[in-house]
Amino acid sequence: MHMNGKSKSLVSPILNSRYGGSILKGWNGRILRINLSKTKTRVQPFEAAKALAFLGGRGLAAKILWEETNPGMDALSPDCPLIFAAGPLTGLGFPSSGKLVVAAKSPLTGGYGDGNLGSLAAVHLRKAGFDAVVISGSAKKPSYVLVINDVVEVTDAEDLWGTGTFEAERKLRERHGRNVGILSIGPAGENLVSYSTVISQEGRSGGRPGMGAVMGSKKIKAIVVKGDREIPVADEKEVKRLRAESYGEILKKPNYAFWRRQGTMSTIEWSQQNSVLPSFNFKEGVFDRAEEIGGATMEKQKASQRGCPDCNMICGNVIYDADKSESELDYENVAMLGSNIGLSNLKQVAVLNRIADEYGLDTISLGNVIGFAMEASERGLMKEKLEWGDFKAAKSIVKDIAYRRRLGKLLSKGTKLAAERLGHDSLKWAMNIKGLEVSAYECHSMPGMALAFGTSPIGAHHKDAWVISWEASFGREGYVPEKVDKVIEFQRIRGGMFESLGVCRFPWIELGFELDWYPKFLKASTGVSLGLDDLFKAGDRIYSLIRAFWVREFGSNWSRRMDVPPARWFEEPLMMGRYKGAKLDLQKYNSLLDLYYKKRGWDSRGVPSKATMKNLGLRYVASELQTYIELGPSA
Ligand code: SF4
Repeated sequence: MHMNGKSKSLVSPILNSRYGGSILKGWNGRILRINLSKTKTRVQPFEAAKALAFLGGRGLAAKILWEETNPGMDALSPDCPLIFAAGPLTGLGFPSSGKLVVAAKSPLTGGYGDGNLGSLAAVHLRKAGFDAVVISGSAKKPSYVLVINDVVEVTDAEDLWGTGTFEAERKLRERHGRNVGILSIGPAGENLVSYSTVISQEGRSGGRPGMGAVMGSKKIKAIVVKGDREIPVADEKEVKRLRAESYGEILKKPNYAFWRRQGTMSTIEWSQQNSVLPSFNFKEGVFDRAEEIGGATMEKQKASQRGCPDCNMICGNVIYDADKSESELDYENVAMLGSNIGLSNLKQVAVLNRIADEYGLDTISLGNVIGFAMEASERGLMKEKLEWGDFKAAKSIVKDIAYRRRLGKLLSKGTKLAAERLGHDSLKWAMNIKGLEVSAYECHSMPGMALAFGTSPIGAHHKDAWVISWEASFGREGYVPEKVDKVIEFQRIRGGMFESLGVCRFPWIELGFELDWYPKFLKASTGVSLGLDDLFKAGDRIYSLIRAFWVREFGSNWSRRMDVPPARWFEEPLMMGRYKGAKLDLQKYNSLLDLYYKKRGWDSRGVPSKATMKNLGLRYVASELQTYIELGPSA
C-alpha cells in the first residue's frame, strides 16, 4: 500500500482480525506485533487474566520483556523487542491520561529499561484498537511504521534518517495530516547513543535508558499512528460523568493556578532553599546563581505552554532560547543542564535542552555526563579543557555525543562506562546507579531519597518514589523505618499503578487529586472493581518481576551493591550551604536497604524469594530464575 506515492510498503497491510473483539471492556484486548526482519504483522490477544494482573503500560511491558528476552542478549540485537504500551485508562479522556510507556532491555544499564511519555500517539494507538505495539527484528533500511486503525505499513524513511526529531515530526505531519500521533528518534538514537530517547511533540521525551537506541538499532525512525475508533467501555455514561467531574475537581485545587504558571519549574527555588539542587556534578546542593534559572525567571520569559493530550494541567513552559527558537523547560532539564554544569543563563540552558530534544538525548543523563566531563577536566584527567558553565563547549559536546565523535564518543555510553575507561577515582563521582544517571536531586543529606534512587526499577530515576519533598518536612537526616515505608508506598502508587494505568503522577502529587478517583475510572471503563489495594498488589507484582529481570540478566554478578548510590554521597561532605558537612552513612543506608528488602519479601541480596513470587502469582518467574541464581524459600 502506498501512502504518498513515494513510499514503499514492506509489510502486508492486512491484519488478522480474528481477535478483533474485546476481552474485557476498557482494554482493547489486542497487541500489535510487528516483526521487521520477517516483514510480518499479527494481532495477539491481550488476555483478561494478564490484563488484570499487569494492567498495561509498564506492567504489560515488563511481562513481555521477561517472556521474550534471554539473559545476556545484546539490547541492540534484532531479537530484543521494543515495546510501546498504553494503559487501560489511556485514550479515555480522563485527566492527564495521554501516556504510554516505551520499554526494552536497556543498552545503557543491561537491565530493564523504560520511560513514559505523553503523546497523541498514545491516544491514537488505543483508538486504533491496540493496547500495545511490540516491534522485533530489524528493518533492512531506515523505515517508519505507519498504523492507521488495522492497516499497518513499514515505509521507507531514508529521507528522514539523519533529521532531528522536530523536523522529522513536521515532515510526517505534512505527509499524514495534523491529527496523527508521532514518536520519533533523532540522530542520537540512530547512532545508538546509550541514553537516547523517543521524542514526541517537540519536547515530550521518554525512555531514558536508551530506548531511542533500541529503536535506532531496528532502523525505525518513527512511528505514526492514527486511530478513529471508540474504545469500548463498560459504562459510557459513568465515564462521561467522571471525566467532567474530575477535570472540574482539578480546577478547584488550590495550587492549580500556580502550577499552570510554573509547572515543575518552581522546584528550582525549592531545591535551592533545601540544599538539594544538583550543582557542579552533584558536589553541592546549592548554586549561587540559582535565581537566574528559577521558576520566577522562567515566568518572565515564558512565551507559551505545551502539554500532553487529555490534560488540563499542561506543564511544559516554552521560552525563546538564546538561538531564538522555542524550548520547552521543566525542572529536571534546567537543573541538570544548568546548575549541575555551572550554567546560569536560562536562555543558554534552553538551547542545550532544545538541541537535546532534537537529537533525541535524555537531558538528565546528558547533564550528568557533561558535569562529569567538566569535573574530569578540572581534575586534569582529560586533555580537553572544559570550564564549568562554558556554554559553547557544552553545546558542542551535545552534538559530539549525538554523533559519537571526539569526546562525545566516550560520553555517549554514560558516566559508568566513561569512568571505567577514565580510571583514577572517577567511579566515585560518576553519578549513576546501575548505570543510569541520577536525576536532579542532590542526596548528601537525604537518605530516603537516596534509597528511592537506589531501588528505582530502571536505575537512578526519581519518577517512582519522589519522596524528597516529604522527607524535607518529615526530618531529612534520620535513617528511620518511615522512610522505607514511604519509598514503597510511592513506588506502589507512582511506579506501579500510574505507570501501568497510563496516567500522569502530577495531578496526585502536585495538586492533591485524590487516589480514590482511579479505581472509579477503572470500574467505569472496564467494569472491573479493583480497589487501591489490588492496584498496589499489581504494583508489587510488577516490581518483583522487574527485579527478577535484573537478577536474571546479571546472574552471579548480581549484588546488593547495585542498589547503592555513588560514593560521592557517602565520602565527600557538602562544602556549602545550610547542610555543609553532610554526607550519607553507608552502614545506615544498608540498614534501610535491608528493611526495604524485608518489606518487599526480597532476600538480603535484593532477590525476590520463592514465597514472595508465589504470593504475587509469579511462580513461573521463580522457577526460571532459580536456574540462574539460588533463591531463598522466604525473605
Ligand atoms: S501534567 Fe504535564 S506531564 Fe502530566 S500529563 Fe499534563 S502536561 Fe503531561
